[in-house]
Amino acid sequence: MKIGIDMGGSHIGVGLVNDMGDILAKREVNLESNDKIDANNTIISYINKLIGRVLEAKDASIDDIELIGIASPGVIKKGIIVKADNLNLNKFNIVGELKKKYNVPIYLDNDAKCAAIAEKEYGNLKGYVDSVFLCIGTGIGGAVFWDGHLLESARTPGFELGHMTIDIGGRKCSCGNNGCFEAYSSIGNLRKIVAERMGLEKEITGKQLADILRNNSKNIIIGNVLDEYIRHFAVGLANIINIFEPEIIVLGGSIVYYEDIIVDKTREYLRKSNLIYNTDIFPKISMAKLKNDAGIVGATIIRKNLNKLT
Ligand SMILES: [Zn+2]
Repeated sequence: MKIGIDMGGSHIGVGLVNDMGDILAKREVNLESNDKIDANNTIISYINKLIGRVLEAKDASIDDIELIGIASPGVIKKGIIVKADNLNLNKFNIVGELKKKYNVPIYLDNDAKCAAIAEKEYGNLKGYVDSVFLCIGTGIGGAVFWDGHLLESARTPGFELGHMTIDIGGRKCSCGNNGCFEAYSSIGNLRKIVAERMGLEKEITGKQLADILRNNSKNIIIGNVLDEYIRHFAVGLANIINIFEPEIIVLGGSIVYYEDIIVDKTREYLRKSNLIYNTDIFPKISMAKLKNDAGIVGATIIRKNLNKLT
């Protein structure tokens, strides 16, 4: 058995995963804004608690665990989270911290890459040669498979698809730039905009967002928010499609819960627009088969085996 840890901008999920990629037990915690003040210590303490709970759920101990894999947002290098703006983490040696307590191999990778690898091995990217995975939750992360291989440069992790500028001088992004794809099309920012425009308390949960969007389909404010979202989402997707011309784009992260509200309409908008240069290659746009569990499962797949997955 392996332990997979998925750190999102607003939640941490820990799962016990078997060799077939099945999650045998899972425990999660939602992160509040206060948790990000002393993020390093808070995250380690949540992870320790959640590991204890999943082991207990299966009557297992750490001696039964082959490895621990961590999927984290942001820039990852050699076991260090160099920068994860949505979690307020900088140069955080998370592997070193966890190694003090767990005497098992511990791996760290970018969350979108982990989720993409899980979808490639067990989900909706299986069988495709050229494909893109977008993890759309608190932020936006991405991974690209080109001719069957995950693209990565030797120097830096790259593929910061969420931080391509889609509106010069537009909305402020957590990275400091204005007008990033993430500032318009992440579910985290959709939550903020809906709360702001509807005059609600500052933070609404994902469940509240889904209820508001579903119960107010005729509300003019919600209509405008969704139109704005879809137009910007379509531009971001079109840029990615024009560069990589993938056969398929799989969307993971919490956007999987909004297919009927957002994704169907964005596909339709894209088809009618002139945003796609080569219309012959309009890709399939699908939801992640593993839904929000792709990060936990992908964190347990060790990258050296990647070429066997294609
Ligand atoms: Zn940005």
